[in-house]
Amino acid sequence: MNSKDLYSYAEKIMPGGVSSPVRAIRPNPFYTVKGRKSHITTLDKKALIDCCMAYGPLILGHAHPVVRQKITEQLDNGWLYGTPTPVEPEYAKLLIRDHPGIDMLRFVSTGSEATMAAIRLARGYTEKSDIIKIEGGFHGAHDAVLVKAGSGATTMGVPDSAGVLPDLVRHTCQVPYNDIESLSDLACKNENIAAMIIEPVLGNIGPVLPENDYLKEVRDVTKENNILLIFDEVITGYRIGIGGAQSYFGVTPDITTLGKIIGGGLPIGAFGGKEEIMKLIAPSGPVYQAGTFSGNPLSLTAGLATIEWLHSHKKIYKELQSSTELIGEELKGSGDGSFVSIGSMFKYFFREKKPCNYKEVNECNIEKFSIFWQKMLNLGIFLPPSQFETNFLSVVHSEKDLTKIIRAYKQCLS
Ligand SMILES: *Cc1c(COP(=O)(O)O)cnc(C)c1O
Repeated sequence: MNSKDLYSYAEKIMPGGVSSPVRAIRPNPFYTVKGRKSHITTLDKKALIDCCMAYGPLILGHAHPVVRQKITEQLDNGWLYGTPTPVEPEYAKLLIRDHPGIDMLRFVSTGSEATMAAIRLARGYTEKSDIIKIEGGFHGAHDAVLVKAGSGATTMGVPDSAGVLPDLVRHTCQVPYNDIESLSDLACKNENIAAMIIEPVLGNIGPVLPENDYLKEVRDVTKENNILLIFDEVITGYRIGIGGAQSYFGVTPDITTLGKIIGGGLPIGAFGGKEEIMKLIAPSGPVYQAGTFSGNPLSLTAGLATIEWLHSHKKIYKELQSSTELIGEELKGSGDGSFVSIGSMFKYFFREKKPCNYKEVNECNIEKFSIFWQKMLNLGIFLPPSQFETNFLSVVHSEKDLTKIIRAYKQCLS
């Protein structure tokens, strides 16, 4: 069977034929049967250079031998017990050491679960009800964060999905990214704000980078107004460096959420923060949180192997940054869009100037992107199929891969 036929069958028995919406590429997505290093192989026997990397988790590439070895060792001993396992405190200790904003930590199974729990925790701790999020910021698929902007900036939210209660998202306010005025205004007007949740670098419409001292100012304004600051580092954690955006930009949040890379390619999430806040989590406190698969030994083992590898190869972060910068350099003069990169995250925007917030990202030419994306695929490069998703490099993308990527970009942008 080929991808086209399999998809037409899958569409009949699965909504959109997929398990997550972004994968439903038109007219049909390809099915992947194998991943090795920087490449994936499709059901149709095509080899592609992968710049999607499962939307972020695979910083060591596909099937890295060190991670694979550790997973295999764990498999031999079984893979789920419903009791504590030694890898939990061992791994928690490492994550805590790397993140200035984390003194204590809880493992969960996805990034969505982590942000959901972090928001509940912030409400429990502050005994206040409202939260602030950034327009275009993504924190998973749960009710409190499935909010679109109302008529203007700093309005109360309206649901971004059927089935989400307006009554609930009334408690979620939004402000534009890189706009400290809007945040201060809102913080002054509304005394009932428990927390602000923010992707320090907007990764789900970007990357869109913080300008000047924006993150430091966000820290100041939240502190002055007794608002807890939640950094959603599900993408940026171990992606832009060890210690994530909080180390990179030198801004310490009250609560941090992690996911993606820390599972080494298996499902994971985690949230952590200051001890006095984290102590409110059940069973040591009144904020309930639980999960059958939380802290499962396979994900933790794969994650620990990944993070230990990164610790013993710290220089890769500089190298990855140089690689994405090289792509940007090489593309100067090709096309009339803009190129943005940070660490191993990069994106070509079909907008003349680099976007600095959600509104500006929405000005990108989506039709142009779609045509470009298909051309890239035809040349053997798999980019995330959306103008709004970040491209990722991994440590196993070779110089040869990079040359091919640059050549393809130039050809497809001209
Ligand atoms: C991916 C992502 C999430 C959701 O994580 P899942 O594991 O998909 O639930 C949350 N926040 C950010 C910033 C993400 O990129």
